Amino acid sequence: MTENANPEAAGDPDDRSLSDIDPEARARALQSLLIEEGLVTTDAVDELVSLYEEDVGPMVGAQVVAEAWTDPDYKARLLEEGISAVAELGVSLEEEVMELRVVENDPETHNIVVCTLCSCYPWAVLGLPPTWYKSPAYRSRVVKEPRALLAEEFDTELPDEVSVEVWDSNSEIRYLVLPQRPDGTEGMETDELADLVSRNAMIGVERLGGEL
Ligand code: FE
Repeated sequence: MTENANPEAAGDPDDRSLSDIDPEARARALQSLLIEEGLVTTDAVDELVSLYEEDVGPMVGAQVVAEAWTDPDYKARLLEEGISAVAELGVSLEEEVMELRVVENDPETHNIVVCTLCSCYPWAVLGLPPTWYKSPAYRSRVVKEPRALLAEEFDTELPDEVSVEVWDSNSEIRYLVLPQRPDGTEGMETDELADLVSRNAMIGVERLGGEL
């Protein structure tokens, strides 16, 4: 019996392996330690986080969207099987989740992504989740009154005739909104188009210019 006893079952906190501790708490502890020791500054950490929240991370998703706008066959594959379609662009989600479901906005339907339980987010295509995405206020209100939330918090007014679909992420399925291609962008290159795609539009709290 004792030979195979699992030390974690004994309940001694010192026996807990690092992987049992919430990654966010671990990261916070590590960050405080590095700052305390003078190895990094808070500004440097903030800058890095914002780079991954705003620029580097979401650019991957923006390229996926731009590719879908310019190549109908790619779009069909993306809507059919998200993980393998983004893998074509060199993005791997296989180890992260079971499924990436890409939900397409059209003139009748607007899609919004949330994780009501915690903060599941398609990291590989959108980078770090913004703080508000993890907030209880967003997570609960987006389900109950998405239109009011979008109008008040994101200045996004959805016309009454557009219906709203809210997609609840979980540990196995992540969602990415495919916004409508803005008018007047015919003839633009994929890279130019990608610049038009915001992170918030891919979460669904924003509409791109021209989306009715
Ligand atoms: Fe979650």
